[in-house]
Amino acid sequence: MTRRSLMVILAHPDDESFPIGGTLATYADQGAVITLVTATSGQRGVPGLEPMRAAELRDGELRAAAAALGVAEVHLLGYTDGALDTAPPDEVRRRLRALLITHRPDAVITFGPDGISGHPDHLAIHRLTTEAFDAAALPDARLYYITPSEATHQGCGVASSADVVSSTIAAIDVGAHREAKVRAMQCHASQQPPFTGSPAEEAKKLACHEYFTLARPAVHADALACLFAPLPAVVPA
Ligand SMILES: [Zn+2]
Repeated sequence: MTRRSLMVILAHPDDESFPIGGTLATYADQGAVITLVTATSGQRGVPGLEPMRAAELRDGELRAAAAALGVAEVHLLGYTDGALDTAPPDEVRRRLRALLITHRPDAVITFGPDGISGHPDHLAIHRLTTEAFDAAALPDARLYYITPSEATHQGCGVASSADVVSSTIAAIDVGAHREAKVRAMQCHASQQPPFTGSPAEEAKKLACHEYFTLARPAVHADALACLFAPLPAVVPA
């Protein structure tokens, strides 16, 4: 069987760890090849530190977290933190589409329309990734949106405004990989991670499931236990 490949396209260093680190650690452990694309360098995310220094610090934190999760490859696109919605959209879409076509992932994960926290960069990467995914037109690839849950609440500290309704939800059991998630979160020291104790102890406090909504293809299935689980055939409209 060929190795599964997963591409994760997010806005900031730490977006891969706090909401969905358990999923990435779980699939990496199962042998999936995970490519992480982070659109901004998080330059504005360290109070008191000038943007260039903050970007360097967060680049190091991101690479350490990616290693803790088992992510194979990290692409930092280098856009400005807090201003992704003013980056040239054609250029961002073109770069994302090129990465999708090069890596041909079986599944892509990005933020959903609520952006979990509603951060403008999260909303921008949601929109740009969805458009790039459609433009890439990869046969058989799926697009998933991060879905609000106890895990995102624990990791990101905000209650989501969005209700999850009538969509296909993948519920990923990350129970066995929560310690890796804690280690990855702790790599983002500049972001004051919410779980600061020993990873083995902190892991017990984390939610056992992370949730994703299937955005493409447009089919309805009962709850999925795996991002790569078989789907019903697409019925032409
Ligand atoms: Zn973020």
